[in-house]
Amino acid sequence: MGVHDECAVFGVFGNKDAANFTYLGLHALQHRGQESSGIISTDGKEFYGHKARGLVSEIFTKQVIENLKGDAAIGHNRYSTTGASSINNVQPFAAYFKDGYIAISHNGNLINSESIRHHLIEDGAIFHTTSDTENFLHLLAKNKSDNLQESLISVLGKVRGAYSLVLMTTDSLIGIRDPYGIRPLSLGKKGDCYILSSESCAFDLIEADFVRDVMPGEILFITHNGIESRQFAYETPAPCIFEYVYFARPDSLLWGKSVYNVRKKMGAILAEESMVDSDIVIPVPDSGIPAALGFAERSDINFQMGLMRNHYVGRTFIEPSQSIRHFGVKLKLNPIRSIVDGKTVTVVDDSIVRGTTSKKIIKMLKEAGAKKVHMRISSPPFISPCFYGVDTPTRRELIASSHTVEEIRKYITADSLNFLSLDGMMKAVEKKEFCTACFTKNYPIKLESEPAYGTPLPFL
Ligand code: AMP
Repeated sequence: MGVHDECAVFGVFGNKDAANFTYLGLHALQHRGQESSGIISTDGKEFYGHKARGLVSEIFTKQVIENLKGDAAIGHNRYSTTGASSINNVQPFAAYFKDGYIAISHNGNLINSESIRHHLIEDGAIFHTTSDTENFLHLLAKNKSDNLQESLISVLGKVRGAYSLVLMTTDSLIGIRDPYGIRPLSLGKKGDCYILSSESCAFDLIEADFVRDVMPGEILFITHNGIESRQFAYETPAPCIFEYVYFARPDSLLWGKSVYNVRKKMGAILAEESMVDSDIVIPVPDSGIPAALGFAERSDINFQMGLMRNHYVGRTFIEPSQSIRHFGVKLKLNPIRSIVDGKTVTVVDDSIVRGTTSKKIIKMLKEAGAKKVHMRISSPPFISPCFYGVDTPTRRELIASSHTVEEIRKYITADSLNFLSLDGMMKAVEKKEFCTACFTKNYPIKLESEPAYGTPLPFL
């Protein structure tokens, strides 16, 4: 199985500032991946590219962006699991075949990439990366059709899994969402220029208008003649509910709803389900803030920022090394003693994965004088790994996969612990059609067997 990525994809067509907009777009999408970034642009004849490890603001200097010529560009932010973080895996990938260049940025994870790769290698293909995304390029190169649209549709018939793709040729930009629409992708417009972005928050920064979501199973072809849409598959949509819980930025509009409003509602419903007497409600910043506001408002308890976040650390979970992750919580969060001392505190966070964060927070709050700490989580217990592109530890490491709520409460040393119910979560998103596999084990795209992530590919 290839590496599985949390990622951002972005693309611009028809503006002389394409590379600059892509840089800004990737900056707005930095939360979706902090390990590496890349931009490829085109002036209609050549491709120009730059990619490196690090944050968007560190990688792209003024000079680098000036060298990314042309009026179209695509970009990518990536986080990967340990072992697969080589520079070769940094997207976008570009290739030259048949009569031109093509570049690709991918968010999501294919579940049949191992078998596709195996067949391609047996057939003589040489892979440059360990990424499942490279399969798209090989399959396209092997396709006999001269028509890119037809080739793409045929290739998409062979891959299974989650993919939001942005592709670019010297004269087109292409946006694709997999048949289930698991990962997000939105279309924006700035004057005559079309933009594709993982999330709509990037449109705000470059003052573009949000047009609509790319639909599950839809391909958008953008050329100088305008935009054309083709539906290549029809499945029951299953967008990822964890985007609403944690992953997307609260200022994004996702599948017709404000992420902030959905999170606040999750917090309000959580309060209805598991109200507890306390002096203050505090969020785990930043991810728990909207839910904690909803919780405090509904339970009529004073909201306070009892934990301060150091914004210069990055997400603890995103650190590829286990040793850093462990003391990372302390690097990132610090209680404000004057707020929590002597108080009964209700702490709201969006999720418990391994239980590390909650355990350390409760210890810090008690050391800062909190009398009691009640923990409230604005999603159900996370019981099963994601195979569609959200980085999660193996099933064994997911505390809720093998422990009851009471056992988790004891482990994290909370005075009480409650999770939002599945019904409560579905009420907050107001729709039924979602991938909820991490909370229900109900995988919309069936796996033959559970892949062992973190093991290197046998043939590389
Ligand atoms: P843990 O300490 O393993 O229980 O992780 C829970 C914390 O990580 C919560 O504060 C979440 O906001 C955050 N979190 C949950 N899922 C992810 C993810 N895929 N990437 C980064 N952080 C996450």
